[in-house]
Amino acid sequence: MPLVFKDTLTQRQSSLSTVGKRPLEMYVCGPTVYAPSHVGHLRTYLLFDLTKRYFLSQGRKVHHIQNITDFEDKITHQALAENLPWSELSHREASDFARLMAKVGILPPDRMPLSSEYVGKMIDLIRRLERRGFAYRRNGSIYFDASKVTETRNFSAEDFLTAHAVPESGRVAEPEANDPRDFILWRPSVEPAPVWDSPWGRGMPGWHIECFAMASDNMRLPMDLHGGGLDLIFPHHYAENLISLALTNKLIARNFLHSAFVTMDARKMAKSTGNLVTIEEALGQICPWGLRYYLMTKSYEERLEFSMYEAHQAEESWQEDQAALSGLLATGGQSGYPVERLETASKEFYRALASNLETPEVLNILHELTVDIRRSGTSGIARGEHRAARKILTGWGTTLGLPLLGENSGSEPH
Ligand SMILES: [Zn+2]
Repeated sequence: MPLVFKDTLTQRQSSLSTVGKRPLEMYVCGPTVYAPSHVGHLRTYLLFDLTKRYFLSQGRKVHHIQNITDFEDKITHQALAENLPWSELSHREASDFARLMAKVGILPPDRMPLSSEYVGKMIDLIRRLERRGFAYRRNGSIYFDASKVTETRNFSAEDFLTAHAVPESGRVAEPEANDPRDFILWRPSVEPAPVWDSPWGRGMPGWHIECFAMASDNMRLPMDLHGGGLDLIFPHHYAENLISLALTNKLIARNFLHSAFVTMDARKMAKSTGNLVTIEEALGQICPWGLRYYLMTKSYEERLEFSMYEAHQAEESWQEDQAALSGLLATGGQSGYPVERLETASKEFYRALASNLETPEVLNILHELTVDIRRSGTSGIARGEHRAARKILTGWGTTLGLPLLGENSGSEPH
């Protein structure tokens, strides 16, 4: 069943086929590694993990690239505060990020390129942009000239520039730029900030060219699916599209998917404002599967107001479902719970995922089954039907990344 979802760029329904030998090309914008990741980040990576798991469940491979932004001003500042070279700090935080993702069952990407390894490639791209007239110099920096892109297919910069003049990331305001839509491709820098030699002197690249360099080097553009958190639409994905249009006449991706924010006290969870619960803090109070389950209780398109109370409730529901469903295989009577009910539920399960990754509906399906199993008073699936039931339950667990049949029960896809 193809995955049908609302494309964030067109705001129309789009679909991605689950058949075909060619893997689905998916690039997810990864973290800027300077501090421990929070639950808002996890929600984004979970969305793409579920997307990937859905495709794998349907038999289509996914080529998943997710970068690590390992140099940036915030990293430099934090490294200075800790008296470390920036690369040491980013290396430490990147390892910690990978450890946390594994803990909550996020499948590792096929590659996690580091921005710092692609600076040569970025310099080449900037030179090409300059040659084609899409860049201008100002006080030692190189800017992308948005006015030179006549193609109008893109996210609307105007919407963002008027609605939220300076996004939380603070990376949009470029006082020397000709136009608020323009952005830095290269700027001078001095140690201890990251520094590379370039045709424009010693300095460092801007943010948007980084992802374009890593994406274009690791997959054919336009890729099938590109995304991240909602705050990446502008300026980041807008800017990547401009670079792509300038160099290839095409958008960077055919489809865009973004996850809504996690909020606390109705404000976006963010490292820069300190309004956050780190993944580690959450895992101090709730098990990884409970946390995963909790984040799935809301559609990725809706804001999720983080509540430890609700997270605990979700953890209880998960434990109840897990006990009831794995219990079906624990014993085997002759007249047990009919496997047909699992088969019917399974159709609904995959249909709900195929329809805009409706995880709340999927969890409802599991919970209704749990209630039905309890009500039936049966001790388990009839002996001859164990095999069929195990297959269904293993499939669900693998697709959701939850050990439905207990730890090590195959929440990793084959
Ligand atoms: Zn990116």
